[in-house]
Amino acid sequence: LPDTLCSSVEKGDLLVVELCQSHVRTLWVTLLGDGNQSPQVMDKIFDMPGNIMQGKGEALFDFVAQCVRQFLAGIGAPQHRLPLGFVFPFSCRQTRLDKAELISWSKGFSCSDVEGKDVVQLLQSAIKKQKLYHVDVVALMNDTVGTMMTCSMAGKPCEVALVVDTGTNSCFMAKAQQVEMAEETSGEMCVNTEWGCFGDDGTLSDILTPYDQHVDQESSNPGEKRFEKLVGSLYLGEIVRHVLMALAAEKALFIGSNVAVLGTKDVLKTQQVLEIIDNEDGMAKASRALEALGLRPSERDCCRVQQICRAVVSRAAALCAAGLAAIFSHMRQSRELEHLVINVGVDGELYRGHTRFGEILQSVTRLLAPECMATLLPSVDGTGRGAAMVTAVALRVAAQRREVDQLLAPLRLSRADLQHIQALMRREMELGLGRESNANASVRMLPTYVRGTPDGTERGEFLALDLGGTNFRVLVVRVEQDGIRMASEIYVIPTAVMQGTGEALFDHIIECIMDFQLKQNLMKQVLPLGFTFSFPCQQLGLDKAVLLSWTKGFSASGCVGQDVVQLLREAAQRKQHSGLKVVAVVNDTVGTMMSCGYDDPKCEIGLIVGTGTNACYMEEMQNVGTVEGEQGRMCINMEWGAFGDNGCLDDIFTHFDRLVDEKTINAGKQSRFEKLISGMYLGEIVRHILLALVEKQLLFRGKPCPKLQTRDIFQTKFLSTIEILWDGDGDGDVVLTVPLVWGSDGLALRQVQAILQDLELQASFEDSVLVREVCQTVSQRAAQLCAAGLAAVVEKMRENRGLARLAVTVGVDGTLYKMHPLFSQHLQQTLRDLAPNCTVTFLRSEDGSGKGAALVAAVACRAAE
Ligand code: ADP
Ligand code: MG
Repeated sequence: LPDTLCSSVEKGDLLVVELCQSHVRTLWVTLLGDGNQSPQVMDKIFDMPGNIMQGKGEALFDFVAQCVRQFLAGIGAPQHRLPLGFVFPFSCRQTRLDKAELISWSKGFSCSDVEGKDVVQLLQSAIKKQKLYHVDVVALMNDTVGTMMTCSMAGKPCEVALVVDTGTNSCFMAKAQQVEMAEETSGEMCVNTEWGCFGDDGTLSDILTPYDQHVDQESSNPGEKRFEKLVGSLYLGEIVRHVLMALAAEKALFIGSNVAVLGTKDVLKTQQVLEIIDNEDGMAKASRALEALGLRPSERDCCRVQQICRAVVSRAAALCAAGLAAIFSHMRQSRELEHLVINVGVDGELYRGHTRFGEILQSVTRLLAPECMATLLPSVDGTGRGAAMVTAVALRVAAQRREVDQLLAPLRLSRADLQHIQALMRREMELGLGRESNANASVRMLPTYVRGTPDGTERGEFLALDLGGTNFRVLVVRVEQDGIRMASEIYVIPTAVMQGTGEALFDHIIECIMDFQLKQNLMKQVLPLGFTFSFPCQQLGLDKAVLLSWTKGFSASGCVGQDVVQLLREAAQRKQHSGLKVVAVVNDTVGTMMSCGYDDPKCEIGLIVGTGTNACYMEEMQNVGTVEGEQGRMCINMEWGAFGDNGCLDDIFTHFDRLVDEKTINAGKQSRFEKLISGMYLGEIVRHILLALVEKQLLFRGKPCPKLQTRDIFQTKFLSTIEILWDGDGDGDVVLTVPLVWGSDGLALRQVQAILQDLELQASFEDSVLVREVCQTVSQRAAQLCAAGLAAVVEKMRENRGLARLAVTVGVDGTLYKMHPLFSQHLQQTLRDLAPNCTVTFLRSEDGSGKGAALVAAVACRAAE
């Protein structure tokens, strides 16, 4: 139940059906939604035929449904959709507001074929049989819950309820995340204690008297509901009867009377016991009740009987007080409060008619839980109004849920969607590889002239350059018997140089190399150099790469259409630097594959999920139509970020994706696939969804959020923080399991709230949960799309090699993949599903662009030798 429950904003017509001890009560409640505390109520009581309580379950529910039909006909109710709340005062295993399995009957009910079944469904089908197609059972609740809600409406919120009727029960509000059995994890939830069963495991045996044992033995369910049998009005008369019987046998009572009548069950009613304890005319009532049994009580007998009745009723009240005190101290502790101030709704005949019961309840509770100040609020008109309230809230929550689902639905891809995307990727790959079709493919499938992955025999010392990642670096890499050693230096490329002339840019790069060689004392040697150049290139040889376009903020003039190795060599000449031997230009995906390939020879795929996304893999030369030669394999740089640039992914593009796309420098038809997957965009997608939710009043109570209007304010790294799940024991270990496990300390929630706080957003518990759901939806889609792409790749490799099963390793790099808590898990799970005949292992690459470039150079040198 959300924290807005008591806000009286609910409105509309609601139907409530209460199943009671001997009758069914139907109510028509109109909530006005204007903060008015008293709704309009019409009600009717239907007496239940005696045989129904022990008959067939179907007959019981048919009777209830008939009551509903007669009631609606009687008041001439309109035929519009009517939500119904069902008050069902029996032990149920409830997993949702509208799903409750009956655990066991009690209170004299024993209808067949109901235990273990969903009571909501049973009522709904019975209602259909009555042709009441417009009536929906939306909530089921226990009578204690109804009582609590009814009392809440009377004024201050009421968070505990106690019912002492024929049976006894209680309920209280707890944080939903502490209720592990329920599906719900947000907000508050009412817990129905079913405390009538307390003691069924023997814990109460110390306080059970011989009289209690007799009452239990003679009941319809011996051994069960031990607590209830000490408290409920169904049993108090019986307890008194057994005490009287024992005292009469001892000749301490009714001397000279025939006491045989006391051996008959139920001759003394609880109602009589309650009259006898009365201060004023209790003695007279005692005398009359006993005489009615044919006894001849003396005045002393009546006095003793009154004492006995008081002892039994007082004990019942004190036991309830002990139960309440336990609930209070639990609530006080879990809320970490020094003092708990709380309202308790109370209902039931024992409490209602008898001030003495209430007085004992109050004073014993104070005694047992002195740090809790409880106010008992008698329920004025039963559980009906409260039930209507719960039903109304259930309805509103369900409607909001539907709206959220509708909004997020386009982002949730089905298996068929993903298979379709996999097939499209496969088609684009074929087009990209074909000599004639290459020009029309959105996936460029660029040859890299890398023909083999490392075999572990590579040795030597190499230079490497890394341009196009987050930093520009120069490295020296030593590949030796016992592993790879590296030293590197990060250099800044000023924005003016990035966007100046090509000559200035490459001059700057040569200066950095010279500085590095000086520092590393490498001036005298001529080392082979691998150049990681992470921009789309048309490669014409291992050391010949024509720049197709700049990305990532670079725009140096005179470079597009030129061979970047040539540009580097010319700059070296200008700087009179002769110690440079460029042997390979490497894309970062290739570097990633090669660096992992050194540790795992099965690594024949490279994947990047960072600022952007891309992949490469080893393709058969005979399939590569764009390069001469049929022998062996070549690594293909797919440039798959551009997948969909020809419009083939337009169907899965959502409104939010279009909004994000419109704001990018390359709006329209560039990097369509990348814009659904990579770190540069996910935060933006989330931001646009959040704005839409606010506009629909589904988030932050619809309050405008000016800061959320700012582009890129919701960073992709927030998704990682928000989606991290904490373990239940609160020791801070991150657990990567779905469904959610919230730490008892609410750490996860506080994380979300802190992030939103920075954006000047005041998030309630529900808001935080919804924001997290949005993040999960967006990151899961990204991982699944990535998997669909990879599935196309591994399946093609498997077919290429004519294998029934392919075992292959993917080397992966990129902060999004590495830092997001669930991305890799979703990726692998979806890939297993889409490519069941491939066993794919993922290996994180450590410094792929440095190490990888050196290894490409090493493999090339080895081949040349
Ligand atoms: P590049 O791809 O430029 O080499 P990275 O692999 O480091 O760089 O990726 C940078 C991207 O990773 C950024 O777009 C950023 O949004 C994203 N990112 C940074 N930190 C995290 C994180 N903790 N979780 C998810 N994504 C992150
Ligand atoms: Mg990178």
